[in-house]
Amino acid sequence: MPHKLENVHSQVYQSTLKKVNSAFINFFNRLKNKAGAAGFPRFKSKLKSITFPQCNLKSGGVKLLPDNHLIITGLPDKVKMVLHRPFSGTCKTVQLIKTSTNKYYIVLSCDGIVKQPLIKTNKSVGLDVGIKSFVTLDDGTQYHHPKPYKTSKEKLQYLNRKIANAQKESKNKEKLRLEKAKLFEKNKNIIEDYQHKLSNKLLKEYDKIYIEKLNVKNMLESSDNSNLNKAIVECSWAAFAAKLIYKAENADKLVKQVEARNTSKTCSYCKNIKEKMELKERVYKCQACGLVLDRDINAARNIRALGTSVEINYVKTEAPPLMVG
Ligand SMILES: [Zn+2]
Repeated sequence: MPHKLENVHSQVYQSTLKKVNSAFINFFNRLKNKAGAAGFPRFKSKLKSITFPQCNLKSGGVKLLPDNHLIITGLPDKVKMVLHRPFSGTCKTVQLIKTSTNKYYIVLSCDGIVKQPLIKTNKSVGLDVGIKSFVTLDDGTQYHHPKPYKTSKEKLQYLNRKIANAQKESKNKEKLRLEKAKLFEKNKNIIEDYQHKLSNKLLKEYDKIYIEKLNVKNMLESSDNSNLNKAIVECSWAAFAAKLIYKAENADKLVKQVEARNTSKTCSYCKNIKEKMELKERVYKCQACGLVLDRDINAARNIRALGTSVEINYVKTEAPPLMVG
């Protein structure tokens, strides 16, 4: 083993090997299932993160000191840290991550976290995510996408041009790359912050939230003239749904994902299903009952109806005999 690697905690090697192993297992599964281009696992010359399994913060790979410092196996000095929020439960693994802007984060995965239930409101809501509005509620409330896209899009184009013209492996190119990474990081932080605030607000207001199982790929393929960065939108919906789901568990509230079955094409009033509803049609007009309603509100109402109907059926079949009659 090379000398400079001697100080690295042995479990870190094991977890890295596990990652390589699962990359290959996934690759062979993709081949077997013939899921599009299988994509051979890429070689990574540098690791961007390392994982310390079974790390309890008292011994082993990472040790947490009471004065907001860390001891990391392999590093000679203790490291100062900023604790974003106190953690609870038992720490099971610690991941050390280096971002593309050369910042370091540690991520703790904990078990046995004590729930912190939010006050019940007896209210439920259907929620639609979209390109025009980020989130639409069935009562018509709309939350727009966070703002950074437009200005950053122009800056990104400018930086991409500069990077393309910069000399290969020059200091200048590295400087531009860092600037681009910082721009992405800034955007990401704005989006993350917005999503945290919105998910907290919704969970405070509603006991039950119904959302659609996202098929982002289909939606984006059918959206032609979107002026938003597709990758950002795609990640942002999935990340928002994930936040709602994990926070709901801790808050003792319910987030239910319903199958996306014609939620845009169905009339939320008479349930008539249209044959076609193009993405550019912003208003739902029902030929059967005459309903005229914003497309996203109509979808949110259908999502809510789907969510509640599944629940009613569930309660009926699961009710104990004593409750019947
Ligand atoms: Zn109708």
